[in-house]
Amino acid sequence: MATNIQVAVRIRPFLPFETGSKSVIDVLPGEDDPHDEKIVQGRSVRIAGSSRKSHAFTFDRCFSGLADQVELYNSLIVPLLSSCLEGYNATTLAYGQTGAGKTYTTLGPSAATSPDFFLPHNINKRTAEFDAVGILPRTLRDIFIQLERKRLSSSSVIDSENDSDGVEVGLQTVKQPKSNRAENEKKPFEYTVKLQFLELYGEDIRDLLSTGSSQTKKIVIRDSSDDAEAMGATEQVVSTAQEAMVCLTRGMLHRVTGATAMNAESSRSHAIMSVIIEQTSRTYDGDGEAVVNRKSKFNFIDLAGAERQKRTNAKGQRLKEGININKGLLVLGNVISALASGDKKSFVPFRDSKLTRLLRGSLGGNHKTLMIACASPAPKNAEESLNCLRYANRAK
Ligand code: ADP
Ligand code: MG
Repeated sequence: MATNIQVAVRIRPFLPFETGSKSVIDVLPGEDDPHDEKIVQGRSVRIAGSSRKSHAFTFDRCFSGLADQVELYNSLIVPLLSSCLEGYNATTLAYGQTGAGKTYTTLGPSAATSPDFFLPHNINKRTAEFDAVGILPRTLRDIFIQLERKRLSSSSVIDSENDSDGVEVGLQTVKQPKSNRAENEKKPFEYTVKLQFLELYGEDIRDLLSTGSSQTKKIVIRDSSDDAEAMGATEQVVSTAQEAMVCLTRGMLHRVTGATAMNAESSRSHAIMSVIIEQTSRTYDGDGEAVVNRKSKFNFIDLAGAERQKRTNAKGQRLKEGININKGLLVLGNVISALASGDKKSFVPFRDSKLTRLLRGSLGGNHKTLMIACASPAPKNAEESLNCLRYANRAK
């Protein structure tokens, strides 16, 4: 269904060294948006092309350089997360040329998020540092808040029948289990959160969370009828959002050092960060126990830079890599475009690239997909920005 695929555009602000130039992209408000002088969000963008021609494109949502991470998160990610907690998979794809804001959008200005961001009493605190935190750490924070709430409220229902004392835990009061309760009694709601962090470089898939060897492990894909599995990839169990971020930051470090060792750039690979959520609910009635298991995955993909490879600078291996990267992005565009067409009979070319093979079980059906096309407002990037908007436009 087409509504399960959304395409948003984000124009980043000018960076300090770019000041003095005028933005080549304007965000235009939709019918329901405020028509202020300062437009934060809208429905379409207009980009000034070469030779006085301008092009306009409409998307599900467009964010100007004035939009912050909180606005983007609330508008795009919160609905995806609630669907994910109901058991569907969700995927966000940050697309755009190098320097357009993909990593900033996904993680924030630095790979490591301040541990203070995750403290319960800071949840509504707004500082410049917290405001800059990207969508992935925000999602992790919300996942644990919501799952803990669910766990605490389900156990307090049972415990309240046992006449025990309330105790302050985190955000809310819960009941202490009675000490004489059987040790092995099953909880009404339990969850496990795991992380996977893969890097796709050319034709290689590397496990960025593998430990033990200095060389990151290479992974192969095993296809099944409607999904695919990265065989042997580490699934790291994490028990708090902060622990999850520490784990991902370690993966980032592996990514960069791995790339340096291969004399490559990490902007030329796709980073696939997946949060796997397993939930078990047990209810009891006259017939005994009913168990509902839910497993879902929230994928955050920081795609390789979408810039065209210049043949003069890229030769041999580099040129081949560039062609591979662009082919992967091209196939991704084709897959999303086929899914967005809503035509059930149309062929979806998942198998044409490793990226789309890996994502097969997360795209289409009831799963939610969000592409965030990131573009620079600078005149010198106008051509790449136009390419980016054209690509995003195909995905609608
Ligand atoms: P990419 O990952 O697409 O190569 P980055 O996310 O690294 O690009 O962004 C390039 C630079 O622009 C970084 O210094 C980043 O902090 C900054 N930047 C990107 N988007 C924004 C934004 N929305 N607000 C402020 N700074 C941004
Ligand atoms: Mg980046």
